[in-house]
Amino acid sequence: MEAMPLPTLKNGKPGIFFLDEVMSSLTEPFKFSLVGKISGNRSLVPNSEIYVAFARLGLKRSFDLRFLPRGFLILSLHCEEDYAFFWTRGQMMVGPLGIHFSKWTPEFNLQEESPIAPVWVRLPGLPIHLFNKKSLFALAKILGNPVKMDDFTADSSRSTFARICVELNVLEPPVKQIWVGWGDHTQEIDVVYEKIPGYCLDCKMLGHSTNVCYSHGKIPKPDRSKPADRSPPQTEAPTVPAPPEGAAPVIVPGPQP
Ligand SMILES: [Zn+2]
Repeated sequence: MEAMPLPTLKNGKPGIFFLDEVMSSLTEPFKFSLVGKISGNRSLVPNSEIYVAFARLGLKRSFDLRFLPRGFLILSLHCEEDYAFFWTRGQMMVGPLGIHFSKWTPEFNLQEESPIAPVWVRLPGLPIHLFNKKSLFALAKILGNPVKMDDFTADSSRSTFARICVELNVLEPPVKQIWVGWGDHTQEIDVVYEKIPGYCLDCKMLGHSTNVCYSHGKIPKPDRSKPADRSPPQTEAPTVPAPPEGAAPVIVPGPQP
């Protein structure tokens, strides 16, 4: 562990300032952490039952679950595979409760969702010898933190495009083209995003854009008597439809009546 900073004054107030390398070592244990927002009637499911539901998922490594106020929790995982398992699905059910996951960052607070989202990306025409985790993760790092490559890419059973999930800050303009090169050869590769979710700067929330937010009054509020949808209708055009992705969404049985 790095040496901890000493108190200093800023605008006459005492405090401590963590340098980047100290902060990196402090956040390292949380690098596979997600924030969960629980929706539904919390009184129906005690925390212990939510914990058991996670334990029954058969994760590769242990996990920590910390319950916070206002229906939030922090799920800390301890390997890349378990992290990708939750992050690429985005949500899970525990009986009548829904848990929606977002990225944990050191700046996390209960009022604002992080604008970092897992986004599936296609690289059409990528040479087949680059369809391996090391090369693909190295390429994907240009776009954002790589989370997972899909099964058809991993076993090279579909060679027309490589498909990988990366963490993107959706408030930043996406990279449209990258290149790979070796020897005298250079090749440009288009980057095709399957769906980049909107981020609302008013609600500080992923899932809809500011220009379609109800709080602007541009679109009417949905009828609450109809089945609930977490986010307002999307106006962003989805780029390409997502192919079926391995296992079905996580559904965990809840308490029996
Ligand atoms: Zn909004």
